[in-house]
Amino acid sequence: MRYDDSPPSPESASSVSPDRRWFTRRSGLAVGAAVLAPTLLAGWVLVQLTTGAGADDARPPRIVMPAAAPSPTPSSSAAPATPQAKGPLAGKTVVIDPGHNTGNFKHTSEIDKKVDIGTNRKECDTTGTTTNAGYMEAEFTLDVSRRLRTVLEAKGVKVVLTHEADRAWGPCIDERARIGNEAAADAVVSVHADGVSSGNRGYHIILPAKVKGGAADTAKIVGPSRDLGERIGSNFARTTGSAPANYLGSGTGLVVRDDLGGLNLSTRPKVFIECGNMRDAKDAALLTSPEWRQKAAQGIADGIVGFLGG
Ligand code: ZN
Repeated sequence: MRYDDSPPSPESASSVSPDRRWFTRRSGLAVGAAVLAPTLLAGWVLVQLTTGAGADDARPPRIVMPAAAPSPTPSSSAAPATPQAKGPLAGKTVVIDPGHNTGNFKHTSEIDKKVDIGTNRKECDTTGTTTNAGYMEAEFTLDVSRRLRTVLEAKGVKVVLTHEADRAWGPCIDERARIGNEAAADAVVSVHADGVSSGNRGYHIILPAKVKGGAADTAKIVGPSRDLGERIGSNFARTTGSAPANYLGSGTGLVVRDDLGGLNLSTRPKVFIECGNMRDAKDAALLTSPEWRQKAAQGIADGIVGFLGG
């Protein structure tokens, strides 16, 4: 996302730093939206003020990486041929949403276009963050998603990825939600890593708030999504050894948000996971490790499998 496109904020001033402008823009948006959902927003605003965190948020990558970075995990196939499903979870469908797209930063005008998220309008997608050395969140999310697919398919689950960087940019957040809905997924997980200041560490799971507006109505998924999220969080902690985030969620590793289109538009149980903070050197050392990413995928898979009763 480009800072220049930020909607006007009463606090904005050209003299402030880019980080500060980003920060105030987010706060300005929160204040505007608070008219609609004061109680839910109160918590969210606090999070924003404290950390500037946001799963759909992004800063432009500082270091431009090749668009098609090789993945250490070979993809079994672009069109996931579900092997004649055998295993304890045959008949179940899981949609995995690798956050962002490595091509997004080259298509800022496309991804900046607003889409309808029911309760609001929001950018189609964002670039995602990077480590300080330039490892892109979008590379991380796709790698973990592919590893997760392999683990789940071994259990007989039919797995659908929302994309495999097999398109120039996107999908938009409304399409990401639609893919889960149209697949009638038993569970949907959107994989991310956060990009907040150094010293902020750990994972957190983002759960859908109860929202209603336009095409958004999460009443039926709030409960099962929490169950899914709690299971993923505890298993992720166990397999990776990571602690719940030390900068939001009060140490629970769980955060409820009402501003994410990917959650608001979902009709299927869905959570986001922020696996760690790419801007913290210690977390980045984990996120860039293929061995650690395998543990991360295993933990997420174990949580999903438990949720599905496998
Ligand atoms: Zn993200």
